Amino acid sequence: MTTFSTRQILLNRRPEGLLKESDLLRTEAVLDHIDEGQLIIRNQYLSLDPAIRDWMSDSDSYLPPIPLGHPVWCTVLGEVVKSKSDKYAVGDTVWGMGGWADFSVAPEDYVFPADMSLDLPISNHLSVVGAVGMTAYYGLLDVGKPVAGETVLVSTAAGAVGSIVGQIAKIKGCRVVGMAGTQAKCDWLVNDLGFDEAINYRETDDMAAAIAASCPDGVNIFFDNVGGEILDATLLNLAQKARIIFCGRISGLNSDEPIPGPYNMWQILAKSARIEGFLISNYFADFENSVPIMANWVKEGKVKFREDIVDGLENTPEAFLKLFKGTNQGKLMVKL
Ligand code: NAP
Repeated sequence: MTTFSTRQILLNRRPEGLLKESDLLRTEAVLDHIDEGQLIIRNQYLSLDPAIRDWMSDSDSYLPPIPLGHPVWCTVLGEVVKSKSDKYAVGDTVWGMGGWADFSVAPEDYVFPADMSLDLPISNHLSVVGAVGMTAYYGLLDVGKPVAGETVLVSTAAGAVGSIVGQIAKIKGCRVVGMAGTQAKCDWLVNDLGFDEAINYRETDDMAAAIAASCPDGVNIFFDNVGGEILDATLLNLAQKARIIFCGRISGLNSDEPIPGPYNMWQILAKSARIEGFLISNYFADFENSVPIMANWVKEGKVKFREDIVDGLENTPEAFLKLFKGTNQGKLMVKL
């Protein structure tokens, strides 16, 4: 019987505030058994996503909390090395639900093929043609339904999702304004990605006024990855029939207290606007239709993106914190 020795980083207790090393346990295990419908993936890349912090908490979400004593969950990308699944064979390149480890046992229903015929670097299957790029694609196009000439406002605009949202909005003929946390990120949005304007929210005292100045006709579509004060300030600047894509809430992920607000929710009524929660897993089954479109945009130079690749499983917890410090430059992942 083939066995696989793996390092694992386990969730040992639920974090308060930012994740700390003492919340984790570094260990080793031998994987020697899988059930029918399961496979073992040799993880080549781990995707570090803000949502992982949500799954570490003992709170109701779209997934149950990560069980204590279990490798921290994350999307992994790698090669099938053992399979009791009719869907995947040894040698296939796949992405799916795994953990902070060298090898992951995954149920076939949470695993998806990485289309290597697209001829893109393998890491792109966790970024631009992975769940992150497709979050931008479906969130903007399917929920936001942009019309040429409309104004699209994006939070975490220089991040993995946000940077792609803005570029797709430009492809669709919209005016695009991004919000990001440093001047360098704002410059990148405008000078390299073609955003019309960018607001450095960390240097802005009055966000509602800053948004009003950058979006004089109001915001038709707000792609929100942050929540909190930025959402509240945007609510005061909606155009009639605005659409808000509620995609993330990174401003509240490390809070142990309930987060009040948004205080300006009544603007949804006043502007006959709509706010809709977005979850990319609802679209996984449709990726085969959208991924080739995104891949073409990349090859045509219409969509640019950055990947922030950190080396070594051992550096995963420290790398994860970059998401909350704003020091990641694009899609954050760990290479094993
Ligand atoms: P990312 O934007 O590449 O990185 C996170 C960025 O968030 C940081 O670089 C930082 O940028 C910003 N940030 C951190 N703390 C913040 C705070 N307190 N207030 C405002 N901004 C803060 O990460 P990503 O993977 O693309 O994810 C972006 C968002 O999309 C997250 O909210 C994530 O949960 C969400 N998402 C949702 C789905 C879904 O299906 N719903 C799927 C994928 C991602 P600055 O320097 O600009 O502050």
